[in-house]
Amino acid sequence: MTEKTRCCVCNRQGRRECPALDGMICTSCCGAKRGSSIDCPPHCLYFPFGTEAYDAWLKIDSTWMPKVIRYILDHVDKTHFENILRRMDSDNVPSAESVEMSFPAAAHYFLGVERDADEKTIADIWEEEGWQGLNNDERVMIKYRRNTLPTIIEVQNVLGDHAMECIDLFDPDGSPFIMFDRSLAQNADRFTRFLMWITHYLHFSRPEGVGFVVPFSIFDEFYDEILMRVCGKSKNFRASDVKGYLAGHFGECCALLKTITRDNTKRMIRSIDMHHGVAVYEIKGSREDIKAIIEIKPEFNFDDRELEPDDPEGTEYYNWLRRGESKKIEASMHPSFSHEDESQGVGILGLLKLCPDQMIIEMFSKKKFEFAKEMVKKYFGSYVNFSRESVEDLSKQAAKRIKKMEREPSDKDEEKQAGTIPIEIEQQVMEQFYREHYTKFLDDSIPALNGMNPREAAKNPVMRPQLIELMKSHVHTLSTMCRQKGLKLDIDWVLEELGLHELL
Ligand SMILES: [Zn+2]
Repeated sequence: MTEKTRCCVCNRQGRRECPALDGMICTSCCGAKRGSSIDCPPHCLYFPFGTEAYDAWLKIDSTWMPKVIRYILDHVDKTHFENILRRMDSDNVPSAESVEMSFPAAAHYFLGVERDADEKTIADIWEEEGWQGLNNDERVMIKYRRNTLPTIIEVQNVLGDHAMECIDLFDPDGSPFIMFDRSLAQNADRFTRFLMWITHYLHFSRPEGVGFVVPFSIFDEFYDEILMRVCGKSKNFRASDVKGYLAGHFGECCALLKTITRDNTKRMIRSIDMHHGVAVYEIKGSREDIKAIIEIKPEFNFDDRELEPDDPEGTEYYNWLRRGESKKIEASMHPSFSHEDESQGVGILGLLKLCPDQMIIEMFSKKKFEFAKEMVKKYFGSYVNFSRESVEDLSKQAAKRIKKMEREPSDKDEEKQAGTIPIEIEQQVMEQFYREHYTKFLDDSIPALNGMNPREAAKNPVMRPQLIELMKSHVHTLSTMCRQKGLKLDIDWVLEELGLHELL
């Protein structure tokens, strides 16, 4: 054995090159000293706490957690352990799924948060005993995991198949860090926000257990409520206080998140006017009189669709557009809905069906239905007699469908079958759509920006944070859709146009 192949620590047969010691090292010296007495560089393939040994970290995790749980159970009362486990759970009746979150949460709570009568955590006591039962790698691991705490993170960018650049939304300086997690990276998009326990290692961070997504639509409400609980109305919070609160009330906070999300969905459904209104009129005189009016009014557009099986011969369909006098309805519509269906350049009010001796109108909101009935009186009043109408509340059905969907996740095969358009064509169509949509958006008055257009808001110091929040949600929605559909689209050009370099 030459000098060069010997382990430079113990002089036995060296097995691998050690970039820290600049020589060979044997596996046992490496395993016993890496990350503790050897100052390993992050790129070493044998250093589980570096950036290049993802699976080596997993292997340590798999022995570390059972040892930690055993140690905790030896040191705390069983009933107390069960109480904390329940406190970390958002459900009254813990399920297999919720235990995936509550178990690691409880482990880290006992390890580094809860203090005994002598102000000591379990980790403090274990450290005094010389980390009995833990090997070198597990000791290095516990050094970091005794400081694990919950927070809300926001994904800035997904970097490959297991890494993400993230920020901590309770961290005052908000400096980015790299998070490692395969399943999270595959399910996260730009600006996805998670409530979860995080461990910060020297060269990367890791989530503990699964995280809960905090949707954009309720983020402010949830975030403000947490701060209110921690520091009242002052909003001057210390990150450590917020995280301490989240740690001690984790299950409660998860339940709060669920409740706010559910209430918001219900509110949204209730606020949407989804009524299917149909009114039938008998034609008094000649159908030609009615056709003559339809022809001169700009809002009626002939639709050459196929007739329904029970349509009488000679039935004609017209799209009723928000044009001409029918544009007036937009004044009473919520601004964000006034462009809701402008793929043809103009919004739709509903449908007009002209049968040989009946005229039928069909609208998809109460407001549009009432408006259209007034317009019928005005345009066709002397040529038709009102016969009957029906109004059906679709939002109740939608709510039922959402409930059903929550119970039975959608059928993947069905989704696949629906997407029969070749991906290249879809890519092209979507690119075109977003290009046009956002070109218009840049100069559009936006309700969420107090009626300013995005260009104005970008230059306005008061409105700029709201614009950033709005654009984050746009980028997020788009990147989620792209991931699910396998498309490559971005709206970086919009961000550049607005000078939002924070988001690029
Ligand atoms: Zn050795």
